[in-house]
Amino acid sequence: MAKRLNPNLAKIHRNYTVEEVANLFSVHKNTVRLWVKGGLATNDNKRPILILGSELKSYLQEKRKSNKRKCQPFEIYCVRCRVPKIPAEKMVDYEPINERLGRLIGICPTCDGIINKYFNIAKLDSVQGKLDITLPKALKHINESVKPLLNSDFK
Ligand SMILES: [Zn+2]
Repeated sequence: MAKRLNPNLAKIHRNYTVEEVANLFSVHKNTVRLWVKGGLATNDNKRPILILGSELKSYLQEKRKSNKRKCQPFEIYCVRCRVPKIPAEKMVDYEPINERLGRLIGICPTCDGIINKYFNIAKLDSVQGKLDITLPKALKHINESVKPLLNSDFK
């Protein structure tokens, strides 16, 4: 699990050595070196390497943003792990709220927590083959009997 780093720990009017940055964020020095390789600006060519606090702050802010990726249709965001997850065994239950909308409920493969999200039944196609969805019996029945009608809604 990725550590959550607070960009505000970096003082923008300070310069930091790799070691100081490592101490500040409680990460390994090699992690800081990876940030530098990954685009964190330093005072080029000088030794020891110094990192501008302002650069450090904006680098970490960007990093934080890019960590927040969106869920794919077949993924569900796990609140505990703070990342989108493909449900364990790709198994989910569909629990209808109304004719169109319901919830997909699964289990996080990492923390075993219950994960769920709103799901539009018309988008069933988008997860077909990716997830094994268990529909409630009642809905299965409705689904079969009104299939032509539902299909016309898909497009
Ligand atoms: Zn989880």
